[in-house]
Amino acid sequence: MALSRRAFLACLGAGAGAALGGLFRSAGGLRREPPLLRPPGALDEPDFLAACTRCGQCVEVCPFDTLKLAGPGQGVAAGTPFFNPEEVPCELCEGYDDLKCITICPTGALQPVKQRADIRIGTAVVNEETCFAFNGVSCRSCWHKCPFTDRGAITFDDLLRPVISEEACVGCGICTLACPTEPTSIPVRPRSWPDVLRRGDASTES
Ligand code: SF4
Ligand code: SF4
Repeated sequence: MALSRRAFLACLGAGAGAALGGLFRSAGGLRREPPLLRPPGALDEPDFLAACTRCGQCVEVCPFDTLKLAGPGQGVAAGTPFFNPEEVPCELCEGYDDLKCITICPTGALQPVKQRADIRIGTAVVNEETCFAFNGVSCRSCWHKCPFTDRGAITFDDLLRPVISEEACVGCGICTLACPTEPTSIPVRPRSWPDVLRRGDASTES
């Protein structure tokens, strides 16, 4: 089971903690706004915007309170559904027979998938500047929480640093929330939005 941020820091030695304090400040100072993600099954962004009637049914039905309706100035079209995995990831309707938001969407803005592994919300991207494992501290928090480790969504290189499979990652953002750094070192790059978070520049300013 993954440690919380607080528990993780409590486990660190004083020296490592001091060093990583600077790393947190650095990450915080350079942080850009987290990308907002569309619900699973969403059409490509232009088609999604055309199809979604802003009815809000997907938001209401989500059993995990993942989805929100955008307000003015939130970075996505007002009234459209989104989620921020740093607050609540998509739990892929774990424990339910279907993906509730897709099932209820009356317009086809959210398209059915054959299986959960076919979802493509986006792809997790490791910020190597702030990820513990890339800075000499053992950490597997993202891997422990990932629902698709059996498909190799997150593996480790020879130096025990996380590697993301673009083929297997569904972009649920569960690892994003599990990451103990503040801000997270593994945001999700949205599938069909501008490529604002490329590997290696995830911590640069907007
Ligand atoms: S798949 Fe389930 S948990 Fe994920 S956003 Fe849709 S309703 Fe919510
Ligand atoms: S249920 Fe479908 S049409 Fe309604 S807000 Fe959600 S995505 Fe848009």
